[in-house]
Amino acid sequence: MSDHITEYQGSATMDKITSLAKRRGFVFQSSEIYGGQNGAWDYGPLGVELKNRIARNWWKEMTQLHDDIVGLDAAILMHPRTWEASGHVENFTDPLVDCRKCKTRFRADQIPPENLAAKKCPDCGGDLTDTRKFNLMFKTHIGAVEDEAGIIYLRPETAQGIYVNYKNIIQSNRMKIPFGIAQIGKAFRNEIVTKNFIFRTCEFEQMEMQFFVKPGTDVEWFNEWKKRRWAYYEKLGVRMDSLRWHQHGPDELAHYAKDAYDIEYLFPMGWKELEGVHNRSNYDLTRHTQYSGKDLQYIDQENNNERYIPFIIETSAGLTRTLLMLLCDAYDEEKVISEKNSGGAEGNTGGETSHGTGGSADDWRTVLHFHPAVAPVTVAVLPLMKKDGLAELAQDIRSGLKEDFATDYDQAGAIGRRYRRQDEAGTPFCVTVDYESKENGTVTLRFRDSMEQIRVHKDELAARLYQEIKAYKRIK
Ligand code: ATP
Repeated sequence: MSDHITEYQGSATMDKITSLAKRRGFVFQSSEIYGGQNGAWDYGPLGVELKNRIARNWWKEMTQLHDDIVGLDAAILMHPRTWEASGHVENFTDPLVDCRKCKTRFRADQIPPENLAAKKCPDCGGDLTDTRKFNLMFKTHIGAVEDEAGIIYLRPETAQGIYVNYKNIIQSNRMKIPFGIAQIGKAFRNEIVTKNFIFRTCEFEQMEMQFFVKPGTDVEWFNEWKKRRWAYYEKLGVRMDSLRWHQHGPDELAHYAKDAYDIEYLFPMGWKELEGVHNRSNYDLTRHTQYSGKDLQYIDQENNNERYIPFIIETSAGLTRTLLMLLCDAYDEEKVISEKNSGGAEGNTGGETSHGTGGSADDWRTVLHFHPAVAPVTVAVLPLMKKDGLAELAQDIRSGLKEDFATDYDQAGAIGRRYRRQDEAGTPFCVTVDYESKENGTVTLRFRDSMEQIRVHKDELAARLYQEIKAYKRIK
């Protein structure tokens, strides 16, 4: 028998997630040695792997698995007229109030209405200023002269890069409606309240897909995309009872939206938006037609050259916010009972805690239950001992896996401690090389979630890992 889990501590707190993220090199504060930069974060070795893999997973879902969706990578800097057409210059604002006494700045929609009405600061009781509209776009200058003519914006969303390229893509790729364009990229917003770690930042990444449909079919496609995006999280192994839909009421609907739902996740600080699924109507292309003077109608050649401005269904997810969601969702603290001196499959490498994680028979572990498709490291190879050629054999085995999997190698410390380090990094599989491996070529394959251990021949490892990744199901 392998070690097994008897108790789950459960829920992550933002403090635990932030400290684990720093300790293990997922996320660091930007420019930390200078006291940090508000609203900006750096992704360390494990974090960048996780982020890239989430992005790749989403990209695969959208493009590889959908024949009618193609990709795009548009520039961050766009013609400033774009943002007039989109409505961002006029409407992309937060209502702000300042306390004259303690100088704290609040979003007017986030303080109790009675404070707003009485103009009293919720923190110190001081007088509040009138509500002002504050535009969230970062403005800068392009070219040598800092004048009005050189004003340019850092894009606050990736979507507009898709709209302005929609005709190019129809022409170059012969796309027919309905079809979609997917894009992953940076976006910038001058957010005033940036608490909760990487939840709301000034620089972040989005994964957006804009689906162009015939007017009249938009409601049907909207419902279809709601279904598909829900199924996506299920496939990623997210705890589905921590997700819910929130429909925007009339007060929340953006200026462009006909209907809008958010997928919300139960973060440690409560239910918060993870992704938006929006029916943007024909607003965007109509506006770009007006502002650019270009005809952006679709010509339906299969239907007597019928012309119309397509409706757009948008799925807009934050990449960095998804990373935070997955860290919270994957996090667990589990009590482990060690089966000392147990025989069977695990041989020398079993009995994790008995190999020296601190002496007691039971033990707590911190574990990240990432889906293997997004885990920063897929498989870690660990020689039981450094000596007697085990390290060399383990390195050989790792080399054989490198081409196909993200691997790690660790020979430092007791085996139990090394398993715990991998658990905490979210590595779904560990391969342990021991004396028996030298004799008959078999190794121990250890599963992160169940901590089960089986013996596999090293030549069959890659095939077995593929099989396990495909069949992966979260066990709780
Ligand atoms: P909020 O109301 O929280 O400011 P929003 O409704 O303006 O967000 P959208 O414009 O719909 O957000 O953006 C789509 C997605 O981009 C969001 O669901 C979120 O995942 C992500 N996102 C938006 N703003 C930020 C930010 N400041 N930091 C990180 N991710 C963000």
